[in-house]
Amino acid sequence: MRRPKPIALAILCTAAFTAAALASAGPTIAGNSVASTDDASATVAAAASSSSGPASLGASAYETLYSGATLRIDLHHFGTRAEEAFSLDSLREEGPWAGSRSNLVDETNMGVYLARLYDAATNREIFSRGFASLFGEWRTTDEAKAAPRTMHESVLVPMPRGRAYFTISSRDSRNVFREVFHAEIDPNSRQIVRETRCPREGIIDVAVSGQAAERLDILIVGDGYTAAEAEKFRRDAGRFTRILLGFSPFSENRGRINIRALWAASRDHGTDEPRKGVFRDTAAGTSFNTFDIERYLTAPDNRRLRDLASCAPYDRMLILVNTSRYGGAGIHDLWAVAASDNEYSDYVAIHEFGHALAGLGDEYFTSAVSYNEFYPLGVEPWDRNITALVPDGRPKWETKLTPGVPVPTPPDAVKYGAVTGVFEGAGYAAKGLYRPALNCMMFSKGYAPFDAVCRKGIEDVISHHAGAPSR
Ligand SMILES: [Zn+2]
Repeated sequence: MRRPKPIALAILCTAAFTAAALASAGPTIAGNSVASTDDASATVAAAASSSSGPASLGASAYETLYSGATLRIDLHHFGTRAEEAFSLDSLREEGPWAGSRSNLVDETNMGVYLARLYDAATNREIFSRGFASLFGEWRTTDEAKAAPRTMHESVLVPMPRGRAYFTISSRDSRNVFREVFHAEIDPNSRQIVRETRCPREGIIDVAVSGQAAERLDILIVGDGYTAAEAEKFRRDAGRFTRILLGFSPFSENRGRINIRALWAASRDHGTDEPRKGVFRDTAAGTSFNTFDIERYLTAPDNRRLRDLASCAPYDRMLILVNTSRYGGAGIHDLWAVAASDNEYSDYVAIHEFGHALAGLGDEYFTSAVSYNEFYPLGVEPWDRNITALVPDGRPKWETKLTPGVPVPTPPDAVKYGAVTGVFEGAGYAAKGLYRPALNCMMFSKGYAPFDAVCRKGIEDVISHHAGAPSR
């Protein structure tokens, strides 16, 4: 996996990155048609971690390869259930890179999509991040069978010093990554927008203990708080910070986490509720009833949200919506959304943040979620905490199993209530999918602790962003 496929996908690229531009890259891509990201990716089994030499980047690679700023790559993601493609919207230079400077390659194998950067001079992979998106979720709905849609997305990468290739791969029906987008990036191009559009004065340090590059940086974004409710937002941000940092495994790792809040007054209080005919003009543009699901509270206006957040360093966003209605959402490497004021708000914020931070899947299976084909039969999910026991009848959390526990594990709360096992029923399906514990924050509506597999998933992501724990 040394270099991206140069030309074949040019049809998906926009005018700024035509085949001619790629061809002008000259010797660095000449004659490389044998090496293809697709082929290399296809060898990456769904639940295995990808490893192809990026570890050889070395500790000083960041300073050599990157300017220190953040490059926001804005994209249009469009298609149907059957087909999808990306096109470039814009490139924007933002503030200092908040991600790790030593862990530049994402080896977690999480996410529906995988973005990669390759150095044009050496064809080496120099950065990657797995992510998921609202469009990716929409593709699993019935609506996606009928007609195409377009949604706006952003991928944040460190700003390269030299020319680079940017690629996106999408998982196929077997969960293997296949390249679907390719663009060349010239960091000196005047096409890169360098203005700022964000309320710098709105950034509030709630729990900041170190440099962004050495912490997991969480940004709490308030939505639906009017100018008169500034103090309420401060209180809510403080409350959710205490809740998150008080819950394991965040509590043991609080010294490795920065939390900031972003204050931006909304013109209207609350959020959109389309099923009730309610529409509100709010800072981050959140809405209930996404995909016409009653409680699905998301932030579909990506450009507005990203512009708002663009002055703050962040690895993940938690969007607090000023409403007492029940609802929320969480998408890996995108955001968690939670309503601020109902009896389940605290639980929803932690649960959704589990989705957003560590790509954890829902372990429950009784709820009538209107997704379908979220977990195709017989395909091992990429979620750390859900297994189809494919291909060999053993779970991917084999090393975490309580010694002597049967696989699968009978749902006997007396015998197996506290073990790490393999319990049938997960990912909305009562049969064929398995979870690591009888109960977990990702299973029931309440304050059950994260099970051992979820905890390890969260700690791995914290380590990816903050470096290894110094215990
Ligand atoms: Zn969930």
